[in-house]
Amino acid sequence: MKHIPTLFCILFSLISFTQTDPKIYDIIDAVSEERLRNDVKTLADFGTRHTLSDTLSNTRGIGAARRWIKSQFDNISKDCDNCLEVFFQKDLVEKGTNQRIVKDVMVVNVVAIQRGTKYPNRYIIMSGDIDSRVSDPTDFTSDSPGANDNATGMAGAIEAARVLSKYKFESSIVYLGLSGEEQGLFGGQGMARYAKENNWEIIGVLNNDMIGNIEGVDGVIDNRTFRIFSEPITTDETDPEKLARQARARRFYGGEVDGISRQLARYVYKTTKTYMPEMNPMMVYRLDRFGRGGHHRPFNDVGFAGIRIMEAHENYTQQHQDIRTENGIAYGDTFEHVNFPYCKKLTAVNAITMASLASAPPAPKNVGIGGIVEASAKLKWDKVEGAKGYKIYWRDTTSPTWDHSRFVENVTEFTLDGIVIDNFFFGVASVGENGHESVVVFPNTIIR
Ligand SMILES: [Zn+2]
Repeated sequence: MKHIPTLFCILFSLISFTQTDPKIYDIIDAVSEERLRNDVKTLADFGTRHTLSDTLSNTRGIGAARRWIKSQFDNISKDCDNCLEVFFQKDLVEKGTNQRIVKDVMVVNVVAIQRGTKYPNRYIIMSGDIDSRVSDPTDFTSDSPGANDNATGMAGAIEAARVLSKYKFESSIVYLGLSGEEQGLFGGQGMARYAKENNWEIIGVLNNDMIGNIEGVDGVIDNRTFRIFSEPITTDETDPEKLARQARARRFYGGEVDGISRQLARYVYKTTKTYMPEMNPMMVYRLDRFGRGGHHRPFNDVGFAGIRIMEAHENYTQQHQDIRTENGIAYGDTFEHVNFPYCKKLTAVNAITMASLASAPPAPKNVGIGGIVEASAKLKWDKVEGAKGYKIYWRDTTSPTWDHSRFVENVTEFTLDGIVIDNFFFGVASVGENGHESVVVFPNTIIR
């Protein structure tokens, strides 16, 4: 009889860690297609949001647009007892910095921080872009509605703030409007620098760029698939000797496809599969589309995890185009082409990923691995304050996803009996009392 409580405990912990969090379903349901529609319309109706466009008018240009975005965050904050810290972050970019900066310009980002209750200096960030462009990247006066590129990402960040501000989270969540994207990723650079200077501990950046088009230029219509771009490894290391040492370690121990941005991509993938099984997340193992860029890159450049979330099928006749009709084709990034049920889904993907990460304890540090010429793999990590336990993950070396796991409690090292180190990749995540998990950490030291 005296074993019954122990058995009960084991069963209980098994149950509580295979369950999903009902709050996450509420968050998905709360994302409003209607509000996204209204906000994309409002943003498109500023005529142009080109980075170099007018800043004085209250109805046209990027100045009006960013003031409106800030006012939205301010209103959201009023509704949650001032739960958001809202401000402009700006940097002067001088004429001639590149060919697309044809005059001095203040690149202004809009920042809204929902402060974490337990880890105020840890940040999960959702970004969209404020600015738009037409065919000529220096044309700052022509109509440039930028409805899909990227009013959708911007509206998504505002809507995520509306939904998540109804809750409290352990880590901070940042809703971010970045500018200067089309001119050379200037807003992201400024914000990444700001985060570094202020010693932000960034869990990850979810950069949303074009999350509203379901009809590809190739004719494919798909309202379920979306792409998650992540670079293989992320580092801010510049010392050639250290870089060589890191490359050598990857050669012998692995890690070529296991950088911090890749782990973040896998987290988005898993969270979507768990809570939104109707969606088809597609991880793409590259920084961005072939030869093209986005605002997650400046964060990667300084060593932060960051990924791009976007539609699976792009339509180039509706991207960076002067509004016109040619050979029966209506060119231009206009409001009518945006699919709002899809935009709502992708906004929800962001919201649930941020809710999960901001509810989870910090990821374990100093994850070590051993088991060379042994029958079992051994993992070891630093204790994480606030973690109920840890999940050791492993996968076939050819698998993109963490397919196997083992939950452990009250230990900071563990041997996986009979799991041969040579045949798998391994990682460790922290698990909170509430069941939410951190991103998986790939081992960075070897246990001899
Ligand atoms: Zn663009």
